[in-house]
Amino acid sequence: MHSKVITTSIFDLFKVGPGPSSSHTIGPMKAAYDFLTEINHLPNTIFSTKLSIEIHLYGSLSATGKGHGTDRAIVAGLLGWKPDACDPVKFLKILKNPDEKYPVQFHEQLIEVNAEDFFFHKGKYDSPHANTMVLKLKEGENILLEHEYYSIGGGFIYRKGEKQQQANMPVPPYPYTTMKDLKAHLSREKITLTELMMANEMALTGVSKKEIEKRIDTILDFMHKAVKRGLKDKRILPGTIKLSRKAPLLYEKAKNLAITSDSFLIFLNAYCLAASEENAAGNIVVTAPTSGASGVIPGITYLIKNHFHYSPALMRDGMWAAAAVGFLVKHNASISGAEMGCMGEIGTASAMAAAMLTYCATKDINAMESAAEIGIEHHLGMTCDPIGGYVQIPCIERNAMGAVKSYNAFLLATSGNSSLQKISLDSVIKVMKATGKDMSKKYKETSEAGLALSATEC
Ligand code: SF4
Repeated sequence: MHSKVITTSIFDLFKVGPGPSSSHTIGPMKAAYDFLTEINHLPNTIFSTKLSIEIHLYGSLSATGKGHGTDRAIVAGLLGWKPDACDPVKFLKILKNPDEKYPVQFHEQLIEVNAEDFFFHKGKYDSPHANTMVLKLKEGENILLEHEYYSIGGGFIYRKGEKQQQANMPVPPYPYTTMKDLKAHLSREKITLTELMMANEMALTGVSKKEIEKRIDTILDFMHKAVKRGLKDKRILPGTIKLSRKAPLLYEKAKNLAITSDSFLIFLNAYCLAASEENAAGNIVVTAPTSGASGVIPGITYLIKNHFHYSPALMRDGMWAAAAVGFLVKHNASISGAEMGCMGEIGTASAMAAAMLTYCATKDINAMESAAEIGIEHHLGMTCDPIGGYVQIPCIERNAMGAVKSYNAFLLATSGNSSLQKISLDSVIKVMKATGKDMSKKYKETSEAGLALSATEC
């Protein structure tokens, strides 16, 4: 397993931004914004009429980047937009007219960028990461600045040669890389998971406890706004599939049913579909841990808030449990569909949600681990093959299925004796990594096989 300790912030895992894909939309927008900052660090004495910006996309970004709005996101980043402050309506208009030129500020000059500045290197998978992009500032044929970026899932990016900088991160008071480490701290220090995670977060970010709690509440609020919008919106989703939204129909049906196990499940399905459909529409969602999987945890938290009436403090406990599992998967395997297939996205989200439900209900760390392990175990090998490269089929229903599985994982882990669980969370994450490595590239966010070939787009 990866050896350096986990230094990810909860706010890097749960990020607000436009859909439909964290690795193909939010990550590229952040990379382009970084490139904009970098070019403006060059001397302001460079004046030329021959300046241009070239954008090269490789691997999964070149295969499904169009459907995921990667080009739009890169233009937005070059214009100085950040994901959490992005206006989704204006965002969807970018590059709608392929001839339109967008002015990128370079000191006192403007460099025009349009669709012709993009190069989709389809079929080239030999880059260091499945989602690779190269941005170049050129003067005629001379390259003035070039950066290679990797979008590693969940909106996380890093630049070529940058990983070493992690050595400068502050060391958290409770360093861990595995679930085993985490449990050892908890039993040695006699503290709760919430206390441990909060102490680490404060050390890593320098932010106060009160402010961190406020920000978690804001993240939950963004999640629930997406669910509420999605429960009402009946418009067809963007793209050539012309997919109808289902969430409002399910919601109406659940409301008209007597309170039974069926109505409970239909409510949960409706909440997850609602947030996922908002993501597919390119509206503002929260990566949890990715945009493709941004329906599972919002659906579950909406359920526990509105049906179980959990307090804000208990909801935050659940968010820490979900974050702990998300960090472990990100650190020791990957949350990227381009590396792990859908088990990396929906599988991780389902495990995070299972951990959340279990920790909120029991505060039992062993039961929480079992629930998360079950959540991953039953998503092993799940392919990523979105039709037409849109985060719609199978993605939207996958979120609902991931949430229902998380609920069952919670029941399985809490109804029996969790100490009888044979497989540890650390072991299943190792298996996940190995499985992702063995899976054919065709099943890792390229839309070159599976469901993506089984249906004709209409
Ligand atoms: S199939 Fe899964 S991993 Fe692939 S884009 Fe859809 S949600 Fe993401």
